[in-house]
Amino acid sequence: SVDRLPEIQDSRLRLPVLAEEQVIMEAVRENSFVVLCGETGSGKTTQVPQFLYEAGYASGTGIIGVTEPRRVAAVSMSHRVAKEMNLSTRVVSYQIRYEGNVTSDTKIKFMTDGVLLKEIQKDFLLQRYSVIIIDEAHERSVYTDILIGLLSRIVPLRNKKGLPMKLIVMSATLRVEDFTENRKLFPTPPPVIKVEARQFPVSVHFNKRTPLEDYTGEVFQKTCKIHRMLPPGGILVFLTGQAEVHSVCRRLRRAFPFRRGEGEEAATDSSDEMKKFKKAKHKRTSLPRIDLDNYSALPVDEGDEDRLAGIDDEGSDLELGDDAADTEEKADPSLPLYVLPLYSLLAPEQQAKVFRPPPHGARLCVVATNVAETSLTIPGIKYVVDCGRVKKRFYDRVTGVSSFKVSWTSQASANQRAGRSGRTEPGHCYRLYSSAVFGDFSLFSEAEITRRPVEDLVLQMKDLNIDKVVNFPFPTTPSAEALVAAEQLLVSLGALEEPPRTGRVKEMERARLSCPISPLGRAMASFPVSPRYAKMLALGKQQDCLPYVIAVVAAMTVREIFEDLDRPAGSEDESSKLAQRRARLAQMRRLWAGQGASLLLGDLMVLLGAVGACEFAGCTLKFCEENGLRYKAMLEIRRLRGQLTNAVNSVCPEVGVFVDCKMAPPTESQVVCLRQIVLAGLGDHLARRVQQEELLDPKWRNGYKTPLLDEPVYIHPSSALFKTLPQFVVYQEVLETTKMYMRGVSAVEPEWVP
Ligand code: ADP
Ligand code: MG
Repeated sequence: SVDRLPEIQDSRLRLPVLAEEQVIMEAVRENSFVVLCGETGSGKTTQVPQFLYEAGYASGTGIIGVTEPRRVAAVSMSHRVAKEMNLSTRVVSYQIRYEGNVTSDTKIKFMTDGVLLKEIQKDFLLQRYSVIIIDEAHERSVYTDILIGLLSRIVPLRNKKGLPMKLIVMSATLRVEDFTENRKLFPTPPPVIKVEARQFPVSVHFNKRTPLEDYTGEVFQKTCKIHRMLPPGGILVFLTGQAEVHSVCRRLRRAFPFRRGEGEEAATDSSDEMKKFKKAKHKRTSLPRIDLDNYSALPVDEGDEDRLAGIDDEGSDLELGDDAADTEEKADPSLPLYVLPLYSLLAPEQQAKVFRPPPHGARLCVVATNVAETSLTIPGIKYVVDCGRVKKRFYDRVTGVSSFKVSWTSQASANQRAGRSGRTEPGHCYRLYSSAVFGDFSLFSEAEITRRPVEDLVLQMKDLNIDKVVNFPFPTTPSAEALVAAEQLLVSLGALEEPPRTGRVKEMERARLSCPISPLGRAMASFPVSPRYAKMLALGKQQDCLPYVIAVVAAMTVREIFEDLDRPAGSEDESSKLAQRRARLAQMRRLWAGQGASLLLGDLMVLLGAVGACEFAGCTLKFCEENGLRYKAMLEIRRLRGQLTNAVNSVCPEVGVFVDCKMAPPTESQVVCLRQIVLAGLGDHLARRVQQEELLDPKWRNGYKTPLLDEPVYIHPSSALFKTLPQFVVYQEVLETTKMYMRGVSAVEPEWVP
């Protein structure tokens, strides 16, 4: 039994899900699959694991597993549940990509969906678990979708073996037909239990006009107005990314300074961050030892668009301090506002602050990305300010071109946002767009699996011996086009066996979609990076190139290692500082690119040089700041290098590779070898310089032709190869910004071109 504190018991009793405990537990007893829908804040995530625990689902050998699409939720929910149950984190634990506190005593385990997928590769029947809860299924993250598909098969297998297992799918919306009405997934529809949440009315206020340009400015103004004019109650602001969150936090803090009492701990994230940064400045850290099992085999472990887009400007904010735009609001210390940021990558201690009551006399204002939409419920919110937008990666399946775009969100998610304000009393939602614009929003957001390339998923599935990926019971099946493209790429990388050549077109078509995995593919599947990079790792043994390949792959996987110094400056002083730092970074990039032979490795040589130099200096904040590197990115590369090194050693122990922080630059012949390894991985990203006779348009000068695009692509002025313009190059990806630019360019000798 569970020995809860009285105040915890009180607050539990107020949660709507508690009234349904019996109904839920009875459904779970009688069915293998159960779907549970309930408004955000109704108590699903914190209470259902406790129901299961108390009903004995963790009293035998099996434990309770809960998956979350976001790391934030896995960490914070495990802490919350441990606290509610009055149990130690040895018993209620979490596991995310790089870290966790799981022990042999763990009974309830929160994890990201990527972590569970990796576990299925080791033990398809998931025998450690007696029940799996898939949380936040409405988010339709790729891994969640795949897990539901896999578990729809695993659970019956377990039952057949006499080791019964349960699956509970939890969703914050009632839109669950993709799971319940999909006969391929569940031949008999699972029961759906609805939890009615007490929701106070929310008045929705639309803007008359819709700001198209400066919506963060509008968000700032609206928040100021609410704080000045409206009665007490917390404010929750929705923006699209970390950079916006920080900029609005800064402006609000300046407008409504909040002086904290004497003994009180520092409450702002930036002062804590600053302390950490200062500490890091003085401490030389050694490379961490990384547990081999402590990773997800999948490259992107959650929808963290900020990290992907590399527009995390936190570090630079700290350092550059004021920007001039903030003078528009006069500081008003008589109205203290307690401003907290909230986004996926924020440290858990910082995130935890939003759950605590604000300091006496101050109003709480949380400025968040869409993590606050459904994963986390913040107490005491009465006002919501919704910018109506969301940041997403757009990927063109045909051309492979990707871009990050801020676009309108869906009606469903705008309504979720509004609902955050009516939890404890009637609320107000201020939408910074007109009702006509809202009417044009799509009704729901699409499942992620339909929006991104799937070669990594296909490889992972083949490694699970699911050869006919088309037949897999996806809740939403990716397009046939995407599956064929993925299979073709994997065959060309040697990860899948060539389809047998038969005379018949139809048979060939079918064979093309069910190629089995090759031994090389198995090795590649064990590396936690996408297949193109995994191929490079698999080839890295030659000429002792492995340490370099690992460093380059780690750097390529972490986006944007350089600081963004091209942003507009707020003052003349800042502008001249920026110019100085730009010049310094340009100089360092030239240095890191090397000369002669090494220059031809291009941007990847720059990455290698930067990683080498940074590690040599002890990977300090000081070094990064002085040389235009993003400190956070460099720390992540360091972790990944350790992780990839372990992964390589476990696939081929004979190489005995280790992380050398005093790695010498590669020799000339090693550079040549590295260029070939890179070509082997990026072979489908080959581009040829536009010839004189092909110049249909003067703009095409210095452009490159790729097989898939009609228009040429270009080498970016900041690239190491911008002046060289080799005849052939390979690139990491094409990103459309002001032009179609190749990123991560490396030269290819014409005689290597197949
Ligand atoms: P759901 O999963 O249905 O959205 P949760 O179980 O996450 O609901 O939340 C139930 C309640 O628990 C909410 O009112 C929320 O404010 C509260 N809660 C969740 N985490 C914490 C925490 N770390 N500290 C305090 N309260 C929390
Ligand atoms: Mg929840």
